[in-house]
Amino acid sequence: MLDSKALASIPLIPANTAPPAPDYPWPKPYTSAMFLSFDVDAETAWTSKDALHAQRLITMSYGGYEARVGTPKLLELLDQLDLKATFFVTGWSVDAHPAMAEAILKAGHEIGHHGYHHLLPDPGDPWIEEELERGFEALKRRLGVKPTGYRAPYGEFTEELRVALVRHGIVYTSSFRDDVRPYRHRLADGRPGTIELPVTASYDDWMHGLSARFSPRPIFPKEHVLSIWKDELDEVRDWGAMVTTVLHPQCSGRPMRLRLLREFLTYAKSCSDLWITTGEAIAANFRSHEAAAT
Ligand SMILES: [Zn+2]
Repeated sequence: MLDSKALASIPLIPANTAPPAPDYPWPKPYTSAMFLSFDVDAETAWTSKDALHAQRLITMSYGGYEARVGTPKLLELLDQLDLKATFFVTGWSVDAHPAMAEAILKAGHEIGHHGYHHLLPDPGDPWIEEELERGFEALKRRLGVKPTGYRAPYGEFTEELRVALVRHGIVYTSSFRDDVRPYRHRLADGRPGTIELPVTASYDDWMHGLSARFSPRPIFPKEHVLSIWKDELDEVRDWGAMVTTVLHPQCSGRPMRLRLLREFLTYAKSCSDLWITTGEAIAANFRSHEAAAT
């Protein structure tokens, strides 16, 4: 609830004090980039809203689709198109569906951290550290992976989380919506934070293509979504900037949505100026230019 005391406590500075994104070139021959990424929430997309959903079997089946059909179909598509992507996987999904997680890794894709139970990071939450540690532990134990990328569940952040990620050695994050090029975070105490690969709601497939009892939304046909995705991509290419996809196997792994994604990625591949790659590669490119500039 808003009251005068709460309003008076809002600092008179921008919430994000990171300097502007540096203007460095993309690797030749590219002049723009696409961070191709997927969020594998599986059932945690639902249990993170209410643990009782674990007993609501139809609600759980939306998430279960990822391991049974959605992720294998997406892996098949990426293989056909010869593309490598980043999959941000929750620790619970890795524990509950180890074969799915192993298949992603085996296909040569990058695995990123996406929490354990997919809990929304909110100010003062006691489980922020535990979510991080359990996520790291599951990826290490099941896959032998120490992720360098992190995407926040529900795309929310706190200063506490920003600091903790640096402490845990995370190199890049991908949740903020305030730019179209990578930039480096600045922590509240002035220290450098992670590299941010910003996202936009337009490339979150959930917004246009998934409707359920506990997440009711209109579903848009291929033509509408392709129009949004192509317009955003073409303008970003003109700007020499980047786009980031936020795709979920329980949405984009559905037949109609897969057809849409195939058409979009085929178009993206036809753009010879566009670098379609993983978060790890974009972050490494940022670091090399940053190092050269200092
Ligand atoms: Zn998620």
